[in-house]
Amino acid sequence: MNVLVVNAGSSSLKYQLFDTTAGVVKAKGLCERIGIDGKIKHTNLETGAVYEKETAMENHTVATKIVIDVLVSAEYGSVKSMDEIEAVGHRVVHGGAYFSESVLVTDEVMAKLELCRDLAPLHTPAHIMGIEGCTAAMPGTPQVLVFDTAFHTATMPEHVYTYPLEYDLCQKYAIRRYGAHGTSHRYVSGECAKLLGGAEGTKIVTCHLGNGSSISAVKDGKILDTSMGFTPLAGIEMGTRCGDIDPAIVPFIMDKTGMTPDEMNNYMNKKCGFLGVSGVSSDCRDVSNAAKEGNHRAQLALDIVVYEIQKFIGAYTAAMGGLDAIVFTAGIGENDKGLRARVCEGLSFLGIDFDDDKNAANETEITKAGSKVKVFMIPTNEELVIAKDTEAIVKAL
Ligand code: ADP
Repeated sequence: MNVLVVNAGSSSLKYQLFDTTAGVVKAKGLCERIGIDGKIKHTNLETGAVYEKETAMENHTVATKIVIDVLVSAEYGSVKSMDEIEAVGHRVVHGGAYFSESVLVTDEVMAKLELCRDLAPLHTPAHIMGIEGCTAAMPGTPQVLVFDTAFHTATMPEHVYTYPLEYDLCQKYAIRRYGAHGTSHRYVSGECAKLLGGAEGTKIVTCHLGNGSSISAVKDGKILDTSMGFTPLAGIEMGTRCGDIDPAIVPFIMDKTGMTPDEMNNYMNKKCGFLGVSGVSSDCRDVSNAAKEGNHRAQLALDIVVYEIQKFIGAYTAAMGGLDAIVFTAGIGENDKGLRARVCEGLSFLGIDFDDDKNAANETEITKAGSKVKVFMIPTNEELVIAKDTEAIVKAL
């Protein structure tokens, strides 16, 4: 089945065209500056042909039409006509407590998605525009929503997702732990379970370490806990996000600086983390390079993140009553061998027999044969999960 996977941002639209039967990505691309001016970069992965053009995109409907035109074009296209695109799968950042699995787009689903606006004010409007853009450009083509929160909200126990605030207030405003990167945690924990011989009885910690980072405890293939919370600001230190801090620091800084709630939120999301501590960059590579040159604050930013990752692994091992495997994924997890080694070095007491050579060679398993706890590097593939979920739902119609 040809499935178009769409990841709509406020002014962008990333896409991949999957042939789910053959298990290949036929084409991928990015529309940028939607609503400003407009630019598309498209790659036909079968021929290698690249199409790049600056072209007006007033909104996501126009952007979607441009994507379809290039997908069916003689020179760059992957299909002969739009009818060959059999379904669209959308990545949706927040499904609130309304969605704990992927769903077919219907009027009722769109009404529920509207209720998620408050929970992800930057992303939800963009998703809605992306869905409406596809509906306008491809009327009649079934669309499926795949939520970043669904893997978490499907199974997280009440005592894990409930914050110790006033119960009624939390109910009123839907304040609870939702988590994020659920599609990635689901994919890599699933791949890890296959390597362990099945999900039943397994205790896995998945570390999605990118610009945004989250760590999850996956027991028997199901989420027990995750480091992100009500929003993706919680958890470990990230590129520009502070992660968990004493909540009393928030009113303290607001009082000292005169920042409004919006400004404070923006500050914690955009100015902290690696960038705030190091003063160098939000990018882990830049921070690592600066640390190697002796920059103390860059080294400190890295020391913090390594320590926090270790703490989460320790906490989740206790929460699950044991540990079978750790998975590293996303930009940092898949590429930063030094960071993986540092995290695991301090955890040999758990039964990790780390293999420096396998780690340096970026092998899938980076522990020695016979290691009690296995460590894996598994590249994430959220788009594949979205394509597969979409195929399954549309085939069952
Ligand atoms: P996003 O959350 O935006 O999807 P990514 O998963 O692409 O982010 O991760 C981006 C992070 O990965 C950046 O901090 C970047 O420095 C880091 N990264 C990418 N490649 C490497 C590498 N070779 N070594 C260390 N860090 C890397």
